[in-house]
Amino acid sequence: MTARTHDAFAFASLVTAVAYYPPTTLNLYTLFAALIGNIIGALIPDMDSAGNRLWDLLPGGDGLGKFARRVFYKHRTITHSLVGLYLTYRLLDWGLPKIFNSNFIDPKLLMISIMIGYISHLFADSLTEEGVPLFFPINFNFGIPPIKKVRIKTGGWFENLVILPGVGIYLVWFITTHREVLIRIFALIRG
Ligand SMILES: [Zn+2]
Repeated sequence: MTARTHDAFAFASLVTAVAYYPPTTLNLYTLFAALIGNIIGALIPDMDSAGNRLWDLLPGGDGLGKFARRVFYKHRTITHSLVGLYLTYRLLDWGLPKIFNSNFIDPKLLMISIMIGYISHLFADSLTEEGVPLFFPINFNFGIPPIKKVRIKTGGWFENLVILPGVGIYLVWFITTHREVLIRIFALIRG
């Protein structure tokens, strides 16, 4: 999947999760941090490829990205697995409360938002032909549906003309049908 599709999947997943499990407190800083974190989370798994936008954001990221590409030797390995997901979770759970002042940004909400982005990335990639090595280091690529032939080609017409607009339509439908709970979440900011 392309970065654009991953962003869309991540945002749709975040909105869905937040409607079903609304936070009890929320402030403006945490909201923005969560929105940005959600996109970053959706980009983390593809840091194993040099062209990743996260590398572009870092100074000297170009060289770092090329280095990462060599370390991971192959696109879609540990960063697209449950092991990678778990390690990222542990790292964020340990690091975020040290980085952010919890009076301004709720590190728990930020972490959940990043993880939702990450998980949505693995889900979206599992819809593609290549699938994801979810059980890395076991050499097996997981895909939905299990038959490779019927899965999507990354960056192909189906992704751009069906999946991406589909996520947009889903969002409009979901926000319309869940507006009360979503409005209540925004009301937390003023409260
Ligand atoms: Zn990926």
